[in-house]
Amino acid sequence: MFTHLTPVSSTTSSSPPLPSPRAQLHGRARAHGIFWEGPSPIDGAPIVAIVTSGTSNAKTGPMAQVWVIRADQSPVDAVRSGDDKSICGTCPHRNARGGFTGRSCYVRVHNAPMSVWEAYRRGRYKVVVPEAFERQGIRWGAYGDPALLPEGLVKACNEVARFWTGYTHLHRQQWAQWARGVFMASVESGPQETEARARGWGTFRVGRRDGSDHGSAVACSNEATGMSCSECKLYDGAERAIVVSAHGPQAGFVPAERLTARKRAG
Ligand code: SF4
Repeated sequence: MFTHLTPVSSTTSSSPPLPSPRAQLHGRARAHGIFWEGPSPIDGAPIVAIVTSGTSNAKTGPMAQVWVIRADQSPVDAVRSGDDKSICGTCPHRNARGGFTGRSCYVRVHNAPMSVWEAYRRGRYKVVVPEAFERQGIRWGAYGDPALLPEGLVKACNEVARFWTGYTHLHRQQWAQWARGVFMASVESGPQETEARARGWGTFRVGRRDGSDHGSAVACSNEATGMSCSECKLYDGAERAIVVSAHGPQAGFVPAERLTARKRAG
């Protein structure tokens, strides 16, 4: 049994009891709903993991999207106050002081994360079990860091899934070491890539637009060939180094130089 599945909180008291795996799979139900609530390993604040299905984009292909958000405040409020630390830790792409200024995260929290949060607060999500991920692709961490979730829960979902992708900025935390081999370590520079790989992690980083800092890392298949994540499946935590060039809306996502400069200025 998945004893880490906690009851739905009072904020979603209209949600039905936990369905049986058999009932969930009947009729080819897709993973859509709450699959974990509990305290953040970072600061003990209440967080919730929600999966949504039916979304797709050219890069990822069709995948179940996992959102890790604060359970007690909206994603926008959490970014404004800096309480997004509970779901993103010390990721350099957030503003550690709170607010949107200087934020380089690729996730636009006003959009999908807010829609997910509003549906959660209105009690629109049922509880789902890991078996609901059967034969699906999982995009762990459409927002928030998936290494915050219980190891047993993540592995139970992956066991039945067709494939998954996931990244964590928490790869130096002792309590997150279970995620090595499951998620890619998100790194910001070549030296960080080398260091994380020496600790046995597969890595992901965004490199310069001109490719001059890609080194021996393998180019993201979407960039190299236009292949979607659902076709490629490189981001499953295996020990390899992946790099994607800064581009489009993510152009502000990386430059290690920019992050370093911001820290110096701060
Ligand atoms: S990149 Fe991931 S961990 Fe970092 S701020 Fe964005 S959602 Fe949070």
